[in-house]
Amino acid sequence: MARPRVAITRPALPGEAIRRLADVAVVREWESRRPPTRAELTRLVSGIEGLICMSSERIDEEFLSTCPTLRVVSNLGVGFDNFDIGALTRRRIPAGNTPGVLAETTADLAWALILAAARRVTEAERVLRAGGWKSMDFDFMLGTDVFGATLGIFGYGAIGKAVARRAQGFGMRVNHYSRTKSSDGFSTWTPLSTLLAMSDIVTVHVPLTPETRQAMGQREFEQMKRSAIFVNTSRGAVVDQTALVRALRSGVIRAAGLDVYEQEPLSPEDPLLELHNCVLLPHIGSASASTRSRMVDLAVSNVVAGLKGETLPHCVNPDVYS
Ligand code: NAP
Repeated sequence: MARPRVAITRPALPGEAIRRLADVAVVREWESRRPPTRAELTRLVSGIEGLICMSSERIDEEFLSTCPTLRVVSNLGVGFDNFDIGALTRRRIPAGNTPGVLAETTADLAWALILAAARRVTEAERVLRAGGWKSMDFDFMLGTDVFGATLGIFGYGAIGKAVARRAQGFGMRVNHYSRTKSSDGFSTWTPLSTLLAMSDIVTVHVPLTPETRQAMGQREFEQMKRSAIFVNTSRGAVVDQTALVRALRSGVIRAAGLDVYEQEPLSPEDPLLELHNCVLLPHIGSASASTRSRMVDLAVSNVVAGLKGETLPHCVNPDVYS
């Protein structure tokens, strides 16, 4: 019997799992370092049964109509806002993601942004490299203390909780907001407006959904302290980026640290690039070598299960089985 065909939208994925996939399927990899355009993606997936993709690929009705042979899809990542869940489920296509392996790595990066934005780490390095460190001025590069500060976490799931655990070492008061009103030994549930008003640092860990789209906008920034540090490692569209630029420019909040943007990659003309009080990273939340290997492993397990007609180990549209 002919082996099923599986397309992967990135070249040379790390780890051994691709070999496991090649044992059961013909693997067709996108060969360029840049993500495929929509037209290139359509060509790549022609006649395939399985697809491994990233959040930059929109798997919606239009895409699915160009790929009628598709039987299973898996993201390399935990967020799945690029999937039209209704369209996939209607076509009985199970969709997978890779939870449980990247929360700690992403929480580490959220902390890198918290510390960098609060203590002006990247700004200070830029000044030094440009020859701007001329003397030992007492008021040079004054930042904000992280130890003992109040941390507000918007979205208290796997990553939010991993961020809260780390905050213990920094002697912080920690509050969170999510729709589930429960507290634990690391953080106290708090209404969102109270959390925004009382936090020295606000960090975002909600998924992108219709409800969270642009959930952080002008009104929310105005509720924060003028000294607040704002960090986002979730999805760019959770934040009204124009409002954030305005808030950072006009001193409504003190500084920000971002890993994700409304448009990715960030345009070279983006006004965020002109702001000295904003630390910018290129969506590297889960980018450690071991975590990326584990993500590939889970995505391959999802696709192999789907090709065999088995339930995906990590399925984001379980209704497909009912
Ligand atoms: P998770 O375990 O599903 O947690 C999401 C949390 O958000 C839950 O506590 C959920 O609680 C809360 N939430 C959902 N909708 C909400 C709403 N409308 N208002 C308030 N809270 C809401 O997800 P995770 O693994 O922590 O990941 C979070 C997101 O981070 C992912 O969806 C992904 O987009 C992003 N991410 C980014 C990177 C990166 O590279 N930068 C890496 C990994 C993940 P309730 O249901 O109780 O509200």
